Amino acid sequence: MKKEKISVIVSCYNEEQTIPIFYKEMITVTKEMKDNEFEFIFVNDGSKDNTLSLIKDLAKKDKRVRFLSFSRNFGKESAMFAGLENATGDYVTLMDADLQDPPSMLPEMLAVIKKEGYDSVGTRRVTRKGEPPIRSFFARWFYKIINKMSKVEMVDGARDYRLMKRCVVDSIISLREYNRYSKGLFSFVGYDTKWLEYENVKRVAGETKWSFWKLVKYAIEGIVAFTTAPLSLASILGILMCIISFIAIIGIVIKTLVFGDPVGGWPSMVCILLFVSGIQLLCMGIIGQYLAKTYLETKKRPIYIVKETEKDLRK
Ligand code: UDP
Ligand code: MG
Repeated sequence: MKKEKISVIVSCYNEEQTIPIFYKEMITVTKEMKDNEFEFIFVNDGSKDNTLSLIKDLAKKDKRVRFLSFSRNFGKESAMFAGLENATGDYVTLMDADLQDPPSMLPEMLAVIKKEGYDSVGTRRVTRKGEPPIRSFFARWFYKIINKMSKVEMVDGARDYRLMKRCVVDSIISLREYNRYSKGLFSFVGYDTKWLEYENVKRVAGETKWSFWKLVKYAIEGIVAFTTAPLSLASILGILMCIISFIAIIGIVIKTLVFGDPVGGWPSMVCILLFVSGIQLLCMGIIGQYLAKTYLETKKRPIYIVKETEKDLRK
């Protein structure tokens, strides 16, 4: 019987310190899973350090190692998409190079798909140990808010680390949007997913590429990509303002008729003006966010550009 192939996609951005450790760990796992064939796809996301040459060395040594090297840094979402699009396996898994997605979970994940009949297995961190508390706080709130607003379910603590059947992968790559928010896309395509929980693991080496602001921007991207609820905010606030001002007008008319009209109220008027124009700007900003995304989407720019692959090496 032909062995089933597992494609392991690893997105790498400045990961020279972690790649050798990752590869070693991965080899241990492949030895454990003798009934499967493997393919490793390292996606070099425009690294500025020695990452690419390390990957090339691996590709020379090990025929199962493939790579895609981008012409510049396109971001992890693009790297994952490129990997999925190029993977040839019957099963595909996405992993980080820093061993925060433990390869040792792979046998268990495969067993869930094969024995329990799920289409994909995702992983979830139940703790956020080792993460700055402020980051965890905002992350928690982000998931609460987005799940209220969006029909697509976002699982708190879900990692990008998952194992999928071919059909799931094909569905994901059929979604060719430019502004990619994977957590949402994986939920959007549906299929039966089981979540395995594990304790947060610290990065083995190197540093995280995600600053706090990068995460905030990413969160906004997720909201804009998966819900249009903020757009109705303008209408709701508008109606609310109309009602309040109508009541206020009636109140003032009655007050003037009964008590006469002593001039005053300059400071309160300025406050009201500032408040209302603030709300107007906020709503315009929200509309602007959606417009900007639509603008980028209509350009149909490629999600990633490949400069070099293992085929160039093995010519
Ligand atoms: N990564 C990438 N492109 C980027 C940023 C990160 O391919 O622009 C990769 C990175 O090399 C790593 C994974 O995405 O394999 C997760 O990044 P990191 O560990 O910095 O994020 P964290 O685990 O702290 O959320
Ligand atoms: Mg990490």
